[in-house]
Amino acid sequence: MFCRNCGKEIDDKAYVCPHCGVLTSNAEAQKQPVNDSGSAGWGVLGFFFPLVGLILFLIWKSDRPKSARSAGIGALISVILYAVLIVIEIIIVVIAAMSSGYGTIALLPALIAA
Ligand SMILES: [Zn+2]
Repeated sequence: MFCRNCGKEIDDKAYVCPHCGVLTSNAEAQKQPVNDSGSAGWGVLGFFFPLVGLILFLIWKSDRPKSARSAGIGALISVILYAVLIVIEIIIVVIAAMSSGYGTIALLPALIAA
């Protein structure tokens, strides 16, 4: 093939033109993100496995930004929901302990369990 920058003949498999250093169409085909659909499936995976979602987010954030964001948002929602559930649980335990009149000492085992 011929370089589209300088027009000189170069190897068909070359990624960079040896004459002028410009990337060839091979390099551009290579750069195309593969299967970066950003599908909701990655979000669901991140939701149920936040750690996996986080890892996928870190691995993909440059190569597959859409899928990375999807997995990252799923993981984030999961972590936030989990944190909210724990806070609600602590509030319920505190209210239950206060209304039962046992005081703060009775709270400790319940808080540890939560
Ligand atoms: Zn060239």
